[in-house]
Amino acid sequence: MIFYICLDIFNNHLNPPIMITRVFIFITFLSFPFFVSSQTNDDCGTTIAEQSSTYDFVQKQRSQTFVKTRTAAADVPVKIHIIGASNGALAIDSSDVFDELAIVNDLYSAANIHFVQCGLINYIYDNDYVTFVKNADEGLCDINDNPTALNIYFVPNLIKIVNGVEDDLCGYAYNFDIKNRLLMDKGCATNGSTLAHELGHSFSLLHTHSTSNGYEHANGTNCSIAGDLLCDTPADPKLSNSTVNTSCEYTGAELDNQQNPYLPDTENIMSYSRKSCRIHFSPKQLLQMEDFYLVEGGFLECDPEATPTNNLSEADPIEVYPNPSDATIFIKNVPSGVNLELIDLQGKRIWETQVEDATSIFEIALFQNLARGIYFVKIKNGNSISTQKVVRM
Ligand SMILES: [Zn+2]
Repeated sequence: MIFYICLDIFNNHLNPPIMITRVFIFITFLSFPFFVSSQTNDDCGTTIAEQSSTYDFVQKQRSQTFVKTRTAAADVPVKIHIIGASNGALAIDSSDVFDELAIVNDLYSAANIHFVQCGLINYIYDNDYVTFVKNADEGLCDINDNPTALNIYFVPNLIKIVNGVEDDLCGYAYNFDIKNRLLMDKGCATNGSTLAHELGHSFSLLHTHSTSNGYEHANGTNCSIAGDLLCDTPADPKLSNSTVNTSCEYTGAELDNQQNPYLPDTENIMSYSRKSCRIHFSPKQLLQMEDFYLVEGGFLECDPEATPTNNLSEADPIEVYPNPSDATIFIKNVPSGVNLELIDLQGKRIWETQVEDATSIFEIALFQNLARGIYFVKIKNGNSISTQKVVRM
């Protein structure tokens, strides 16, 4: 079972290094979506699954010379989405968002990247999204993403659930060539480093402690093929508040598999060091982000009116009804060859079928057997994807 050690990172200014581990048992899962959220694990939720294009990109970057024609920083459009309760409560203050973006822009100026707002803030006030589960972003984001910008969603409470265990998250992101979207927990959005960290992931950077390419030796001999693939970020045993003191000094004693001590960079944005300690990217990290933008960022040209490209044609909408429902549900006007999926709030596919013949009313009878809660009907038609939320009463 994957379970992350819970570190009291969020309260790092207030408490001495107290480790608090709280496991939420499955009973919590049953009461979803109204979790009692008092966990203290505020890790980043980005994994190699969201960054599967990084390795190939780094290889490509090394095998060719990028011709940089820009002399000024590129304006990278970001679409800001702010989630709140149905009555508007719990939403982050937009001025906090802009203050944080100013900090981010300082950090990214050396990568020739400057984030600019694309269109107006999109406010989404819906109790269903106040507690937002990682990888259930399709339901919310597929219908809200601006395809010409990097979409940043600020949610009141971001969590992940692994094997019924709930953990708070600070944020997670995809390499933007995979999905141009990033999710931020409101509680971590103004700490001066988490938004910069998640954007680093958007621009293909791995954690400095990444092991998806193997363990990096503390002496750096395999730095280009292991860890984060970069040689100016020293091997990092996965920092935490218990191994970095309030003066940002590394206090851990862990040895690598060659019995050498680590000398990690406790100030690197892409580490799990204390959030207040994370103040810089390395030169190679900055270069990788700039190159990633130059190679993959061509679509980032803000059109404030652009609508999600992954919706099916509006002329022939697919309608799910009744919604909410305590029995079976129906989908109107399903074309032939369409793939239908039913997805739960954890992002798990619980049913799937391929529709052979076009049908005016398609029944999903199994819906009545599901537990009460929120689900998504996902409709794939070639490259276009549409997702609709349905509630089982
Ligand atoms: Zn991260």
